[in-house]
Amino acid sequence: MRKLNSIVIAGASLAGLRAFQALRREGFDGTITLVGAEKHLPYNRPPLSKSMLRGDDEVTLPGAEELGDRWLKGRHAVRLDTSARRLILDDGSEIPYDGLVIATGASPRRLPDAPEGVYTLRTIEDSLALRAELAAGPSDVVVIGGGFIGGEVASTARALGLGVTLVDASPYPMHNVLGTETARWLAGHHRDNGVELVSETRVTGFEGNGRVTGVRLSDGRTLPADLVIAGIGVVPNTDWLDGSGLTMNDGVVCDERLFASGAQDVVAAGDVARWPHSLYGGTLVRVEHWSNANDQGAAAALNLLAGPENAKPFADLPAFATHMHGARVQIAGLPHLADESRVVTGDPAEGRFAVAFAKDGTLVGAVAVNAPKDLIRIKRAIAAGDHLDALA
Ligand code: NAP
Repeated sequence: MRKLNSIVIAGASLAGLRAFQALRREGFDGTITLVGAEKHLPYNRPPLSKSMLRGDDEVTLPGAEELGDRWLKGRHAVRLDTSARRLILDDGSEIPYDGLVIATGASPRRLPDAPEGVYTLRTIEDSLALRAELAAGPSDVVVIGGGFIGGEVASTARALGLGVTLVDASPYPMHNVLGTETARWLAGHHRDNGVELVSETRVTGFEGNGRVTGVRLSDGRTLPADLVIAGIGVVPNTDWLDGSGLTMNDGVVCDERLFASGAQDVVAAGDVARWPHSLYGGTLVRVEHWSNANDQGAAAALNLLAGPENAKPFADLPAFATHMHGARVQIAGLPHLADESRVVTGDPAEGRFAVAFAKDGTLVGAVAVNAPKDLIRIKRAIAAGDHLDALA
């Protein structure tokens, strides 16, 4: 372990908290300062689009209370001076560091000129405001984007008995993430659960003076709407790193050990980090999911302590899950890299199945619908570098 006296963690969400805990667990006895834009203890985001919308307020992450007074709440880092090793905050104060963990996450993409009644969903405040709107019983809920946020919010709104139209740019929702077999099943699953699905269509603007009354579509139609939720992806929070000399390209570009490229004293983790994944021939990936932030926050901090020579490559298999209208959809690896896919167990028509994905014959990913044991089996095969044909 090399000697560092002070470590700053920029970003106090899941990856930042896990970095803090890993440093303490490893016996680091120097100063750790956490800078976090939000005013809450670090919390779990997955419930924000599900149980919190239905009234459950318990989202604080276990261990968040360990942070103590080295946590600068509600403060933004606005600039990084890597040569002087200083972070500059929004109140003008400067924090020196020997080592820095960048875990500033991502922010929702927004459509321009959105009137009142159009929401994005990323924070506790977003979820509580949306909960109040849903409880008021809107008559025309329009969800823009059929990805994770859109699908989960549509599912929650239907469970609350509301009429929902889901507008998505893909042929089937989550087509890029799940592949054709599962995305086609998901489209049917939304429809079976009462969601009005408008596919291969983009929202281009809004109607309404003050409050939203409709959404304009790329096919020229206008849908009535009195509540709109846009889940149209996220943008990594890297503005504050402009001029730092670090390399940005859809996130902070890192090496395989999560050191920001060219830096010896800066690592990145979570939604903001883009690194070459050794299981995928060094393809640069950015993974926007809970388990990645959870594992990568700790791994990046330990690598920072160890120093570049002794650090370990981060090559965990990405794994994530979602629940929509009572179905459990799990994803492992990176199915979108595949050039071939096959249903290896079950049948989409029965709502229980697993699909394996391969590139040049070698497994790269898996998707399972209500089939958790099958997912585990395929995950092991991916990690072992097995061939698609070897799956029984
Ligand atoms: P997402 O999963 O990337 O999905 C965005 C979808 O919106 C895409 O299908 C996109 O299509 C579509 N879209 C974009 N612009 C559109 C427009 N103008 N009109 C209609 N459709 C449009 O992003 P998200 O759902 O906003 O999720 C945000 C982040 O939270 C993601 O990083 C996600 O992984 C994370 N999250 C994860 C979970 C989980 O793991 N369970 C749950 C919630 C959120 P194109 O791609 O064709 O543009």
